[in-house]
Amino acid sequence: MSEVRCQQKAGVILPAAGFGTRMESDRPKQFLQLAGEPILIHTVKAFLNCREIHSIVLAVAADRHEQVKALLRQYIAPGQAAKVLLAQGGATRQQSVQSGFNALADDIELILVHDGARPLIRTDLIEDCLEGIREHGAVIAAVPVNDTLKQVNAHDTIIKTIDRTGIYRAQTPQGARRHLLEQAYQVAEREGFTGTDEAALLEHADIPVAIVSGEEQNLKITRPGDLKIARCLLGEQPMIRIGHGFDAHRLVEDRPLILGGETIDFPLGLLGHSDADVLTHALVDAILGAMGEGDIGKHFPDSDDRYRGINSLKLLEHAFELAENKGYTMGNADLTLLCQRPKLAPYLGRMRHNLANACNTGLEEINIKATTTEEMGYTGRGEGIAAHAVVLLQKKESE
Ligand code: MG
Repeated sequence: MSEVRCQQKAGVILPAAGFGTRMESDRPKQFLQLAGEPILIHTVKAFLNCREIHSIVLAVAADRHEQVKALLRQYIAPGQAAKVLLAQGGATRQQSVQSGFNALADDIELILVHDGARPLIRTDLIEDCLEGIREHGAVIAAVPVNDTLKQVNAHDTIIKTIDRTGIYRAQTPQGARRHLLEQAYQVAEREGFTGTDEAALLEHADIPVAIVSGEEQNLKITRPGDLKIARCLLGEQPMIRIGHGFDAHRLVEDRPLILGGETIDFPLGLLGHSDADVLTHALVDAILGAMGEGDIGKHFPDSDDRYRGINSLKLLEHAFELAENKGYTMGNADLTLLCQRPKLAPYLGRMRHNLANACNTGLEEINIKATTTEEMGYTGRGEGIAAHAVVLLQKKESE
């Protein structure tokens, strides 16, 4: 690092006061979760990881300050948090940046502005932009347009193809030497000019702005699809949990035979405290197993009169609700009934429907098979019916 380079301190302003209505979320996009951390925290960490950055100013709406302070305490090491300052975000990006500007210490000479909702910014690109400012005075990260550009009329019919030679898509960071950015803001304020990015203000003030090669992965999270792309780029895997359940009940006289919530036409029925629906019990156990929540006996003890003769689909609904409350949804379940008699094939479709309903999921997520055991063992001799279930639960995408 040269002496001159050491003397020039760099800081970044992260305007993050926008609400992001295109995200279709009840929270501003910069507070949505990405790979276990809020988007804004990813962005802050990217700049903390760049040793050349001395100061990071977050321009956030006044009513979000406490929330952001709490996030910084939660995710940023105390030693690093001192580098992060809060400024009051304004109604426009321009106002937020101006406010961030005022919060920066006087000895910060190189200033970058970066969208709070561009969390995948790499240290290399930050350093390239700072290098570009030292060389040219003012720069923006941008990528050349690869797609052919079409201009359309009010009816979305193409009028012409636009020559894309020399056309770039502007990203951030954008930045300049302090006095140039100050000058650009002063001119804009004096002339009542509003720009959608910092480069527009610099251009308006006739300050030359150079291009630094941006990166496709430095995407701005604007729409729900962008969050999916960002998750893929970070290699985020859906969290899954697996569970297994097994149950067996004895066949006796004077009991109805209920399997998967369906009453089966058969002279014998299963013995048990509840309706003894062995298939549903296996699925309940698999779900509780996947959640690390013990077994059906722990949640619905047969010593409890509330469960005497109860429809086991109610128990299933309750077990699945427990999983949903922990943020999980049904991936899929595969179940096997071991039953010599009666033939169950005619009932499997309705059983499937009942179980899918109780688990708030589609039919294709539930599979039920029935097999005999070729007259071997207790199920083969018709002494009872048994069932196995495996289930995969998937963590819901956090918003
Ligand atoms: Mg049971």
